[in-house]
Amino acid sequence: MNLLNYDTLLERAYDLLPPRKVRKERLEVDPPEVVVAGKRTFIMNFRQICEILNRDQRIVLRYLLRELGAAGNAEGDVAVIYGVAAPKIIKELMDMFMKNYVYCPVCGSPDTILKREERKFMNLKCMACGALTPVKPF
Ligand SMILES: [Zn+2]
Repeated sequence: MNLLNYDTLLERAYDLLPPRKVRKERLEVDPPEVVVAGKRTFIMNFRQICEILNRDQRIVLRYLLRELGAAGNAEGDVAVIYGVAAPKIIKELMDMFMKNYVYCPVCGSPDTILKREERKFMNLKCMACGALTPVKPF
């Protein structure tokens, strides 16, 4: 193949692609459905939220439990916290989790991966802009 022609073809191919833009969309996350019963707090739509955030339930739960200083468990769709936590607090913690561990601080994209490095470190890797941001491990 003639190199000049090849370049021209490549240029044409690029012209056909939509412009590359950084995704700034916000995830459509339902607020946590929190039910307090007895001395337990249930997040009824926990699995669904984690799926939208693209985060392992165990990771999100570990964050919540650490912040709340409580024990708990994920059972099916539901997270169970052994203790009483106000729905407002759960909502705030979920918002904090999204802010710190989902959205890329550089470009704002939620298209990220949370990676634990050597136990002590955590990084937020952005699939949209490529930024690697160290985050507070939990
Ligand atoms: Zn980014």
